[in-house]
Formats: sequence, structure tokens, C-alpha cells
Amino acid sequence: MVKKIFSIVFFILITALFLFGCQGNNKTTGQPARPVVVTTLFPLYDFARTIAGDRMDVQLLLPPGIGPHHFEPRPDDLARIHRAAMFVYIGPFMEPWADRVLAGIDRKKVRVVSVAEGISLLPAPTYTGKGDNRHNHAHKNQKESFDPHLWLDFSIDQAIVARLLDAFISADPEGAEQYRRRAGILTERLANLDKSYKEGLADCQSRILLHGGHAAFGYMTKRYNLEYHPAAGVTAELETTPHRLAELVQQVRNNKVKAIFTEELVTPRVARTIAGETGATVLMLYAAPNLSPEDMKKGVTFIQLMEENLKNLKTGLVCKNL
Ligand SMILES: [Zn+2]
Repeated sequence: MVKKIFSIVFFILITALFLFGCQGNNKTTGQPARPVVVTTLFPLYDFARTIAGDRMDVQLLLPPGIGPHHFEPRPDDLARIHRAAMFVYIGPFMEPWADRVLAGIDRKKVRVVSVAEGISLLPAPTYTGKGDNRHNHAHKNQKESFDPHLWLDFSIDQAIVARLLDAFISADPEGAEQYRRRAGILTERLANLDKSYKEGLADCQSRILLHGGHAAFGYMTKRYNLEYHPAAGVTAELETTPHRLAELVQQVRNNKVKAIFTEELVTPRVARTIAGETGATVLMLYAAPNLSPEDMKKGVTFIQLMEENLKNLKTGLVCKNL
């Protein structure tokens, strides 16, 4: 008898475990688990969560506050990607670890979206250390021959939103109408952002953007016709040379530059050094590959950060207010 009761209890326990085990992230609500979308960088996360609404569980792979260029996924990150319904990343030159991870993935289960596919990328700027930093010459490293920061061009962002929309609709056709509506609003916001940059940066005293960070703003400065002088290359977030620093100090002096921009997630040491030498002001420019833990908690959006950038650009380049 005791044995029989025990086996019934055991059976119930196993059944319960099985049922609740399938509920994924919604153990407490009892709702069926939503498909998980794993995104690598903050802009992709922000766009995907906006389009998804509550129909999908969009997650950001990078822990808050961590820069993307030296990130390596941990075993539980890999498990998360393998279990996901969709994996969204930029491309192999931004996430060099992705090829390795994707080789072992079941593409019938995990839909893989590379947002850079089909987009023509800018070459990575290289520094010769001889004053002209726009020379392209043989690259030591293949992954550094393209500039991966394509999300800092708001017209490319609109193409990214369109690609995400397609992926969401084919993964969940029932939600098509909702996805289209939300993607439409987001696209319009990005178009407005582009317009406000074009107008806001049309008439400025200076068109020289001096950046005490790594070369993240190639797309933005090309689109709005600014001359871009970063302290370091596209992936070496902290690496600059004394020679390059001296060049930037000279740039500030020669062109009477008022502001030197710094970036989030790294120390403003380089920008402060140049500012200390020249009397220029240090201003923040968000590349937004990720958020700080505080901004993540506040629910800051990509568009908010870019609006903040525009304010600082207009101040630093002394633009006419429109
Ligand atoms: Zn970067």
C-alpha cells in the first residue's frame, strides 16, 4: 500500500516537474512560455523588444556595462542561444565568436538573423601614424577590415528594423499585424532622428569631430558630413598611442576645436588628457553597443541616447540651433 502511494506521488511529482519545466520563464504566471529571441548588442535588443511587444521574450546577451569587442560567450550563453527561437547578431566581424557558435546550431530550431547581411559596410579606418589616418593598407586582422558599427547610421537602422520585422512575421505569422504596426512606429522615429541630425548638424562652426575613444562613429560622421578623428581603431577600445594622442592635440590647436568627445563604457582618460593639454571641453558621445547597469534599469532607449548625442554634437561643434 505504502509502496503504491509512493509510486502515485512519484508519478504526480514527475508530471508536475515536466509540466512546469516546460513553462520556461513564466513559471509564476502559468502562461505558456514565449519564444526567446537572443540579441547580441543593445540596439538590436532595443529594436527587437519594441517590435516584439509581449509576443516574444527578447533578451540581451551582453551583460549590462560590458563592451562588445572583447566579449566571449560563456557556456550558459551558448546554451541560451541553442535553446532560443531566434538569434540576432550583427555579423562575423562584430561578433567573431558567432561562426563557431553557429556551426553547432540546429537551424531548423533556431532562426539566425545577421542584420549586416546585404548591407555595404565601411572599411575600417587605419592609422599610419603619419598624420593621414585615412590610408587603407594591408590589414593584419581580417575581422578588423570592416567597420562593424553600422547601427550608428539611422538609415541602416531602418533596414535592420525591416529585416527583424520579416523574421518575426515568418516565426509568428499570427502576430504579423502587431509587428507591422510597432515596426512602422519605430521606423518613423528613426527617420525623424535622421532628419533632426541632418538639420541640427547642417550649419556648424566646426565639422571636425575629435574623439578620445575607439573608431565607432564612422557611419554617423559619413552620413552627416563630419570629419572624424578617433584616438583608436575600430575594435581596440582602449588602445591609443602617444603619437596618435599628440596628433589629436595638434588637431585641436590647429583647428581651434572647442570640444573633445569621449565614450561610455571606457575611461575618459584619453579625452581628458587632450582636454587638459588644450583647454577643450569633454563631452559624451554614446556609441550604444550596450547600456550601463543604471541606464538598463531606467529603461533607456537607443533613440534617447542618440538624441543626447545630437545635443552634445551641436554644443561641441557650435551649431546653429534649429
Ligand atoms: Zn565599438
